[in-house]
Amino acid sequence: MIIPMSKPCLDPSDIQAVTEVLKSGQLAMGPRTIALEHAVAEFVRAAHGIAVSSGTAGLHLAAIAAGVCEGDEVITTPFSFIASTNCFVYEGARPRFVDIDRQTLMPDPSAIEAAISEKTRAILTVDIFGNPADADPILEIARRHKISVIEDACEALGSEYKGRKAGSLADIAVFGFYPNKQITSGEGGLIVTNRDDWDAVIRSLRNQGRDVHGAWLTHDRIGYNYRMDEMSAALGLSQFQRLNSLLESRRLVAETYAQHLAKISEIECLMPLPTTTRMSWYGLIVLVAPGVKRDLLMRELETRGVPTRTYFSPLHLQPAYRDRFGFRSGEFPVTEDIGSRCLALPFHTQMPETDIAYVCDALKASLAGEGVRQVPSLPRNFGMPTTVSRSTPS
Ligand SMILES: *Cc1c(COP(=O)(O)O)cnc(C)c1O
Repeated sequence: MIIPMSKPCLDPSDIQAVTEVLKSGQLAMGPRTIALEHAVAEFVRAAHGIAVSSGTAGLHLAAIAAGVCEGDEVITTPFSFIASTNCFVYEGARPRFVDIDRQTLMPDPSAIEAAISEKTRAILTVDIFGNPADADPILEIARRHKISVIEDACEALGSEYKGRKAGSLADIAVFGFYPNKQITSGEGGLIVTNRDDWDAVIRSLRNQGRDVHGAWLTHDRIGYNYRMDEMSAALGLSQFQRLNSLLESRRLVAETYAQHLAKISEIECLMPLPTTTRMSWYGLIVLVAPGVKRDLLMRELETRGVPTRTYFSPLHLQPAYRDRFGFRSGEFPVTEDIGSRCLALPFHTQMPETDIAYVCDALKASLAGEGVRQVPSLPRNFGMPTTVSRSTPS
């Protein structure tokens, strides 16, 4: 038996929506893209929604709109997916990483404020694993220092922070629709903002630098092809219309997991924060106890047909960033500790309870595997037959 790591939840209405696009013959940006933009913008009560070809493309355009340029610094978390930092590194800006707090897994607002310098152009928050960042104090700090806040909400569509929707907690926010997210459009992303001026710039940059009302082949700025296609938009819209039921199913999967995992003392399940008034489950992320060798555990699980992923490897230790910015290990100790103990378990919207139970049983069995738990070093019997049977600590 092999358990899938993740799986999009596609139903006949999704397939029909995409088929209709193919029959219509209009495959590039058209009515479905516009409908998806309106639906998501209305959902988060934003004035503008702009669909793009990926979450990464959306973050890149958000960084440009926020005025991030060569030589600027952007304050952000080193505990994230690399796109949340790449998006402004593309523009020649430098990451000013702030170590995370152990409880929230995000930088503390006071630590963010302490990192602000005259080079700071923006703060980029990441709503990690569905938990929105602590937006109120961060926005207050940003207003006082006259800098912008960009919200990477790629993992948090449908989550709420103190009753407000993820994606409405900053000057601009971005959702991602990759197949392992809460809803998918295949590849795709969507920017939401209340800033009219940013909306116009972003629509132009998305479409080769043409102004929204500009003439054909007149390019006012150097833009990109970051457009979403109509098949993706139709799928995204069809999925978005089922968002509540998808999130409800994911909540049930997460709660079933939590019940099973409660019996395993070496595993701690990450939970919604007190400020998260509605949790949109991105995945099932656990922390293994400090004495457990995570990488050995992963290998044991793999042999039992249970894939897992490390979420996240600290960004400052990525070879590309070490080379470019000279980061060293030890600089962000909490991120490094959590990064070495975090594990994403298989998770998808329709995961049956039998699969969840299978994963948890495999976890128990794998924890008992050779060398997985660090045992206190045994006295060595040099020259003696090495048939010492190791007992696992209780
Ligand atoms: C998924 C994700 C993105 C965007 O990814 P794309 O694959 O480009 O859509 C950005 N940031 C975070 C934190 C993500 O999880």
